[in-house]
Amino acid sequence: MATDAHCHLASLLKQLPQAEQERRSQALACAASAWNKEDFTCHEELALHAQQDKAPGIFQCFALHPQLPAEPALRGSGSRTVFVSLLGFMETLASEGRLHAIGETGFDLYNPGFRATEALQDELFAVHLDLALSRRLPLVLHIRKAMHKVFAHKQALKRLPALVFHGYSGTLGEGEALLRQGINGYFSFGTALLRGRKESIRACAGLPLDRLLLETDAPYQPLKGRPFSSGQDLRLLLKAVSPLRPDAADAATLESIIDANFYRAYRAP
Ligand SMILES: [Zn+2]
Repeated sequence: MATDAHCHLASLLKQLPQAEQERRSQALACAASAWNKEDFTCHEELALHAQQDKAPGIFQCFALHPQLPAEPALRGSGSRTVFVSLLGFMETLASEGRLHAIGETGFDLYNPGFRATEALQDELFAVHLDLALSRRLPLVLHIRKAMHKVFAHKQALKRLPALVFHGYSGTLGEGEALLRQGINGYFSFGTALLRGRKESIRACAGLPLDRLLLETDAPYQPLKGRPFSSGQDLRLLLKAVSPLRPDAADAATLESIIDANFYRAYRAP
């Protein structure tokens, strides 16, 4: 068994039609994030079939991605209606018990285009956070150049059942500080590690073992020379993380610890 703490299975299927067969043959459970109704429905159907076939689980996450407000098609005056409709859809899913987590939500201040939508990102994040708190659901965060905003919300974030940092981009010190402040945080690392990002390597080596997750963010985080990321990359990730964590006896032990973290974070049996 292996686990992928963050992916977009419906988007991956468009690039790799056999992605679900591959996932099953790898015995890979995953948390699948959607930001539109079509993708959510696709994930939910796949999850149902997986359950019937006793295949590894697909855990449903839904949120309005923090990059959505910067989408050219969603910048006009009609965008409000789209956002209101998607938020309503998310609230229905949560009230019907069809979500394992709210996400990915958060803040993307990576470039001027995204920064221009900061006020709307703030507004959307507040709705997601409130829903996660009221429904007692974990929250999955997408944070780029915005760790200060995580700290600004720390009092509320402390009350969440779990907080998953997808593609954790903070420092080791920031991660440790969040845990010290009582946030039930999990830090998920993806292909940035394989690209040698120094701060990610330091954080992955230093954060507590029982807080680590691995992810592909498939299909959106391809390795150099590849068209997309997929479940296959998890093997490479485990191989890269293993020497960073001599506190896990071997790669197999590390994998089982990361799997246990995944099930704890997403509160699944
Ligand atoms: Zn993602």
